[in-house]
Amino acid sequence: MITVLGGGPAGAAASLLLARLGHPVQLVTKAGRDQRLAVSLPPSCAKVFDALGIAAAVDAAGFQRSTGNTAWWGSDQARVEYFADGARGWQLDVGRLADVILAEAIAAGVQVDRRMATDAPGGFVLDCTGRAGIVARARGVRRLDGGPRTIALIGEWRHSSGWAVADHTHTLIESYRDGWMWSLPVGDGVRHVAAMVDPQRSDLARAGSSTHVYLAEVRKTRIFSGLTAEATLQGGPWGWDATPYDATAYAGDDWLLVGDAGSFIDPLSSAGVKKALASGWLAAVTAHTCVKTPAMRTQALAFFDAREREIASHMRRESRQFLGSAASGHGRPFWSERAADLELESAASASLREAFEALKRSNGWSPRVGPGVGIAPRPCVRDSLIVLEPHVVTAEHPNGIRYVRGVDLVALLDLAPATRQVPEAYEIYLQRLGPTRLDDFLLAVATAVAGRWLVSE
Ligand SMILES: Cc1cc2nc3c(=O)[nH]c(=O)nc-3n(C[C@H](O)[C@H](O)[C@H](O)COP(=O)(O)OP(=O)(O)OC[C@H]3O[C@@H](n4cnc5c(N)ncnc54)[C@H](O)[C@@H]3O)c2cc1C
Repeated sequence: MITVLGGGPAGAAASLLLARLGHPVQLVTKAGRDQRLAVSLPPSCAKVFDALGIAAAVDAAGFQRSTGNTAWWGSDQARVEYFADGARGWQLDVGRLADVILAEAIAAGVQVDRRMATDAPGGFVLDCTGRAGIVARARGVRRLDGGPRTIALIGEWRHSSGWAVADHTHTLIESYRDGWMWSLPVGDGVRHVAAMVDPQRSDLARAGSSTHVYLAEVRKTRIFSGLTAEATLQGGPWGWDATPYDATAYAGDDWLLVGDAGSFIDPLSSAGVKKALASGWLAAVTAHTCVKTPAMRTQALAFFDAREREIASHMRRESRQFLGSAASGHGRPFWSERAADLELESAASASLREAFEALKRSNGWSPRVGPGVGIAPRPCVRDSLIVLEPHVVTAEHPNGIRYVRGVDLVALLDLAPATRQVPEAYEIYLQRLGPTRLDDFLLAVATAVAGRWLVSE
């Protein structure tokens, strides 16, 4: 029996997949729902819904779809951005999404025990309890990043004559000198408006009323103060701790930290739910591998640990970069404490861009595999199991890399040295591996060249 603690998106997804893979699963989750939390999901979540086999159930739930974002970010100018190719995201209550997945899990045979877990039971346990992090805390692996704390204060506003926005399905985001605010539609004429507040720099630390602090923040903004001027605050503000954290370990001998139990990323990224669902999927695959192929247990646990670590640090970098882009416009403590060093970040992407431009200009190439680059077996997921397959291994990537944008690097490094033109390499790649978009192929080649996995005279 595998025990899953917590029935949010991560726990519901992991239990569903485990049950479908034929495992007996007990899911322990608090009775009743926490205060509702409206979140926005990017269109790319569709792929995760597909991988979990819940796309039809999510569709049937009839969640509101969104076409993009409108942002006043580090500037007074509105940037109205639509998702590429007419794709649509979702605006939904995270508890309702979890319920949709839980219903699928129950139908697949998961036993749900509605109670508060206070400690980790014996046997294999997936900790999916979010910020509570029952196992994460018991194991002493929860790590606060030492940065400032952030509380999200969320109010529910009704505007009977309609909101004056470019597109009512959009997430609205405004940065201002002491923080940032965002807003999502939650119903007809109703939006949640959230202020990200630093408790140390606001009245909250002095036990000030949260409504007073919240309204004071709204008044500091240019756009949201205007938008809410004619609206009525009909609920809240409710407080959510939104301080980021991660873990010093994501897997142990008989436990995994899944979704927010392992790490919490800035809500600014709108990627928490996608990350939690993907983590739930990988946790189920990992537990399945431990049971089905015990010889792979150590590698499977290490694989899960490495992937969660990598995703948490990637997401943290992205958020800090985005925060950095507003920081220059505000130059106040809230911003300088949270922003990343943009120059460092752009240096890495500059070398990739350079490699890409050089490739496009070049008439011919004579690539060979770079020094210190090897092909060695490393774990990856195949048919719901973690198995060992050849990867490109370098000193910077000891865990190996297999794919960039779906392009198989092992195949690329194998075929490239015999070619004299990039188009010729593309032709051979297509013949051997089937349909691949040219821009994905070029990006993979540029990444290989920028990383000196392929060096060309
Ligand atoms: C203010 C705010 C705004 C956000 N905005 C977005 C957004 O726009 N887009 C986005 O993608 N993400 C957003 N997120 C992040 C997103 O909500 C989380 O990343 C996601 O919900 C994580 O899912 P999870 O299943 O790992 O954890 P959770 O959703 O936290 O689920 C944990 C579950 O465990 C249960 N539980 C907790 N303790 C116990 C216990 N002791 N015993 C039993 N059960 C327990 C809880 O009741 C809950 O069901 C936001 C988060 C916050 C705080």
